[in-house]
Amino acid sequence: MQDTLRIFDTLAWRKEPFKSAVPGKVDMFVCGPTVQDYMHLGHARTYLFYDMLSRYLAYQGNRVSTVINITDIDEGIVKGAREAGTSVEAFASKYGKAFVDDMAALGVTTVSSYHPVSELIPQMIAQTESLIARGNAYRIGASVYFGVDTFPGFGELSHQTRDEIALRPLEIAEGKRNQADFSLWRGSNADEQRWDSPWGLGTPGWHIQDTAVSFVHFPRGYDIHGGARELVYPHHEAQRAEMNAYSGKARFVRYWVHSGLLTQHSEKMSKSRGTSVKVREILRDFSPGALRLYFLGMHHREDAEFREADLKRWEEKYWSLRSNSTKLQREPGRRAKLSGDSPFVQAMNDDLRAGEAISYLVKTVERAARAGEGRAGEALQLLKVASSVLGAPLVE
Ligand SMILES: [Zn+2]
Repeated sequence: MQDTLRIFDTLAWRKEPFKSAVPGKVDMFVCGPTVQDYMHLGHARTYLFYDMLSRYLAYQGNRVSTVINITDIDEGIVKGAREAGTSVEAFASKYGKAFVDDMAALGVTTVSSYHPVSELIPQMIAQTESLIARGNAYRIGASVYFGVDTFPGFGELSHQTRDEIALRPLEIAEGKRNQADFSLWRGSNADEQRWDSPWGLGTPGWHIQDTAVSFVHFPRGYDIHGGARELVYPHHEAQRAEMNAYSGKARFVRYWVHSGLLTQHSEKMSKSRGTSVKVREILRDFSPGALRLYFLGMHHREDAEFREADLKRWEEKYWSLRSNSTKLQREPGRRAKLSGDSPFVQAMNDDLRAGEAISYLVKTVERAARAGEGRAGEALQLLKVASSVLGAPLVE
């Protein structure tokens, strides 16, 4: 029997028993969106998973703080604002607000803070200065790079050797000590999104933007860093190097958790390919509760294909669960507490296998509604726990 949660940690590359640094308290950081468009279903799948993870940890008795950064510094935002004929600030703020609204429409209630990175330029500069002082970063002209050779663990998170990393240079620049070195600060002559720094006018590198948010909320480290799997390299690899080097801690983040991609017609959902379905469009035709059961039923680490026909089936199952819950509430029955050996809990404890937990829920509720043989109490309790853990209102 699994009486504690085991979760797949990307760094260890296996399921590990979950233990937070401080018992009863879990701190989590989830990589947020670049605010240049409305949220699409691929994002929704990712954020619904982390919402469920927060909810499940809370169900297990933890006080959970979840922080999501809002990336409002990006070339895509500058370009989008120009095309829309509006200011960069107005453009980013419009889509930042839309993201928070869409999260609310999806029923995501577990986020303690949505933090726009542009508020933390002084922190990014201070961290960069400190990394230079520690010998982890160096300057080329108006730019500053993190030297990956100063961090022996570089490559561990993405499970790549130095040779493999060397084959994929990402930021080409002259004078870098190692082609894998990534920018903490980039000199810039652009009209928009540049700030004064000890190295001249420029803009912060992508990874340090999130690292600044991390240290504001969790200066002593945190339990879980989450995001889509495509962020493992270079984004999270770079962040891990920055955070461990800056804090002097070998394990600033305790668990690295990654979720799979959502594809449509076997392609990654993306704006440029015109394959992104917006959350606000889909919620016109489907209930957020049904969307949750559908997405959470996919195993979080697997890539999955979005099919509207499947979502339609979940819409029916969702309403059937709700109407069965009404029926069950009329049945006399003892209130049963969900025990640790309930298959629902067992499935969730085994790396959040919500698909199995949901199947068990559907089966149990259907059987109880049919039989009415005094199993109403157990089924109702299961519905209540599932509502709070899955974030779908299943009890009317
Ligand atoms: Zn991030």
